Amino acid sequence: MPHSQIEARDPFNSVDRPIASVRVLQCGQAEQHWEHRYGSQRPQLLWVFFGRRWVLLPLQAFLIAHRDGLVLFDTGIDPAVQFDKSYIRQAIGRFLLSRIFRLDLKETDRVDHVLLDVGVDVKDIRKAVISHLHFDHVGGISQIPQAELLVSAREWAILSEPHPEKEWILREHIEIPGADWRQISFVPSDDPLFADFDGVHDVTGDGSMILLPTPGHTPGSLSMLIRQDGWKPVLLVADLTYEVAMLEADRVPGTGDPDTLRASFAKVRRLRDRLPGLEVVRPMISGRKRPSRAPQEHRILGTG
Ligand SMILES: [Zn+2]
Repeated sequence: MPHSQIEARDPFNSVDRPIASVRVLQCGQAEQHWEHRYGSQRPQLLWVFFGRRWVLLPLQAFLIAHRDGLVLFDTGIDPAVQFDKSYIRQAIGRFLLSRIFRLDLKETDRVDHVLLDVGVDVKDIRKAVISHLHFDHVGGISQIPQAELLVSAREWAILSEPHPEKEWILREHIEIPGADWRQISFVPSDDPLFADFDGVHDVTGDGSMILLPTPGHTPGSLSMLIRQDGWKPVLLVADLTYEVAMLEADRVPGTGDPDTLRASFAKVRRLRDRLPGLEVVRPMISGRKRPSRAPQEHRILGTG
């Protein structure tokens, strides 16, 4: 969707509000173990191999129509992970993946197809903010070589650690030719709203999209606060939690670092206390029944 169309269709956007709309894009789905979602006292390997309860995990990205260009928050999964036996190089990885996730993908779940479904040409994506480097969040980056890819410097450092693939961070699908990665560092903010966080990063310089470090799921995971006059503020938290109610209840999942997760949960809850009306966004489906017709697109905010 070219910028001019956004303005033409959304008169308020030409006044003073930088963002026309925020949409969640459904990029396929998988199932995960109940213990993965809700946590367990049992050792991880036990439920990975012997867990029998599965819950539905929608795979998502978000599309923000900003006046400087279209921004993605995460890029979804590459369906090749299900259909191409060589997508994961290590045999142990391919073996474990099928024990951890039951993938249920179609070729059309790739981000370029998903965007086309909502009338957007993938070539018009200007930036992509990557919440963390797990394979189901970076799967679309090969489709957007023209876009700046923003990732936290802490998350990027994982690539230099031994065996990031053991954490489902697959170098071969991240360090790809042509990918325009930009490592961001969080800088201190004078705004008391962000006093709890170890800095902020303003994506477009107008305060409408603020990145906040929310580690725990991975060491460099980030969340994105979207706010502008006249809108309820929203916080996109990616995999910080699988369900907003779990963050509220201080309940950690079966993956990530529990103490770091709880520290990030507390920061997010305090942010919500300081920012009335803040909606923490993590669209999720309970149970394991697949919806008869999964919506391809859901507008959270705006009209563009
Ligand atoms: Zn993840």
